[in-house]
Amino acid sequence: MNLISQIKKIKKKISGEILFNESLSKYSWFNLGGPAKVIFKPKNISELSIFLKSIKGFSKIKVLGAGSNTLIRDGGFDGIILKLGKNFSHISLLNEDTLIAGSSLLDKNVSNFALQNSISGFEFLSCIPGTIGGGVRMNSGCYDEDISKILVSVQAMDSNGQIKVIYSSDIKFAYRECNLDKSLIFISATFKGKKDHKKNIQKKINNLIKRKKNDQPSKIKTCGSTFKNPKDNKAWKLIKNSGCGGMEIGDAHISQKHCNFFVNKKNATAKDLENLIFQVQSRVLEKTGISLELELQIIGEKL
Ligand SMILES: Cc1cc2nc3c(=O)[nH]c(=O)nc-3n(C[C@H](O)[C@H](O)[C@H](O)COP(=O)(O)OP(=O)(O)OC[C@H]3O[C@@H](n4cnc5c(N)ncnc54)[C@H](O)[C@@H]3O)c2cc1C
Repeated sequence: MNLISQIKKIKKKISGEILFNESLSKYSWFNLGGPAKVIFKPKNISELSIFLKSIKGFSKIKVLGAGSNTLIRDGGFDGIILKLGKNFSHISLLNEDTLIAGSSLLDKNVSNFALQNSISGFEFLSCIPGTIGGGVRMNSGCYDEDISKILVSVQAMDSNGQIKVIYSSDIKFAYRECNLDKSLIFISATFKGKKDHKKNIQKKINNLIKRKKNDQPSKIKTCGSTFKNPKDNKAWKLIKNSGCGGMEIGDAHISQKHCNFFVNKKNATAKDLENLIFQVQSRVLEKTGISLELELQIIGEKL
């Protein structure tokens, strides 16, 4: 049985939405990208498990959070996109300085919840437009803070539909990455902060948001930093100093405010953005001898 007929059969057993050949453009902050063969939005953990058990052996599965770090190619995704919705966005206290958050919850909502409960350490999440799932995968962070510093454990489902709990101490985190198996689907994460006065926490949040507004552009179709900062250097500086600031391909541009933010000005294709990325990478290498590494995740098929 082929994948589509297999999934049509599963559809009868579950209530979560299953879409076929649906455009992915609204699932990425770049607002572009071709269709997914299948998009599955499980209603709950048990549906997700049933689904994974039923398609056992099929490995081309990708979870999308807010899509704020993912460029989807014009040919779409020739597999299954998992989109975890409202039922994966719970948050609650486990004790006075520890909380558990669903993986589809937006980072800023976790920061707000921590503020309301007088827990410090989560302020940086107010500046990151992704979900907790994306944050764990990317070890997202800013201004010297990142997920690895507050994570206690992550609850994940493997490709056999089994739940696992993985402790932070067993995960190797590095700058914008971690060594968790790529096939794992994060369900929720447990974090620990420190008790503090609300007033102090609010002040930290306000300062970080102000810094972000000064440093980075907003209200544009971007996925944030395109390249990782090399050790002891800044990607935006290397891009600027290599004379790439004004480079553009079609509607794919480089932000005037922050050279490491690439932008879909209006009707850019993923190909335009990918070509721009490649040209900038080559020019920086040629001028500085430094090979910039992508922070952005690129998924899908070229047209
Ligand atoms: C304006 C702007 C500013 C930004 N600023 C920052 C910043 O300051 N610091 C920073 O680190 N990043 C920043 N980013 C990048 C981005 O917001 C982060 O990487 C964010 O954590 C990605 O989360 P997401 O849910 O959007 O992930 P997505 O883009 O949806 O996915 C990213 C990766 O995570 C995986 N993933 C997502 N959810 C799950 C899950 N439940 N289980 C398993 N894997 C999952 C995906 O498969 C993919 O590999 C910025 C982006 C924008 C647009």
